[in-house]
Amino acid sequence: MAKVKKIVKTIKIDADKCNGCRSCEIACSAFHSTPKYSNNNPARSRIQIITQRAKDIFMPVLAGEYTPAECAGRDIYIIDGKEYEDCGFCRASCPSRDIFKEPDSGLPLKCDMCESDPPREKPMCVEWCLNDVLKYEEHEEEVEEEVKLDDVELGLKSMVDKFGIEKVIDTVARMSQKG
Ligand code: SF4
Ligand code: SF4
Repeated sequence: MAKVKKIVKTIKIDADKCNGCRSCEIACSAFHSTPKYSNNNPARSRIQIITQRAKDIFMPVLAGEYTPAECAGRDIYIIDGKEYEDCGFCRASCPSRDIFKEPDSGLPLKCDMCESDPPREKPMCVEWCLNDVLKYEEHEEEVEEEVKLDDVELGLKSMVDKFGIEKVIDTVARMSQKG
């Protein structure tokens, strides 16, 4: 595959500073609502705070890749004496849990680093975290050229994985006939 230069965008997460205020979730969901800022439902956010209050654990996790199958095994991490539940750090939108799914349609959500035109100086979640948990950085890397799926393609891919290509084509054809 061809190599291309790419700006790699990173959000560094200092989880010890997170107090679970969820401003980042509200800001992300508002930015991605249609029209923009018309809704602020944290269930639609592409960042979620995995919370275990009794253990004082607040772990910000950004939505990553969609996966049609859940893991066969789970990991449990113990860091500084605190036990983090299985799936605690996982970024996948997967069948074993409800996060990183659009609540009405069940379609997967993925962090897009708040891409917009004109580009934002920094992502919404970073801007609205007043506790300096989230730090935005950019650097240039040589990477393999990737085929990028937009939200519609990502949604269709998950539907095809779930119901099969023929069912999806039939449904789209029927919908287009109804106009
Ligand atoms: S970078 Fe943007 S899309 Fe990603 S979690 Fe933060 S606010 Fe949401
Ligand atoms: S805004 Fe910052 S402190 Fe609040 S929940 Fe999000 S990451 Fe944690």
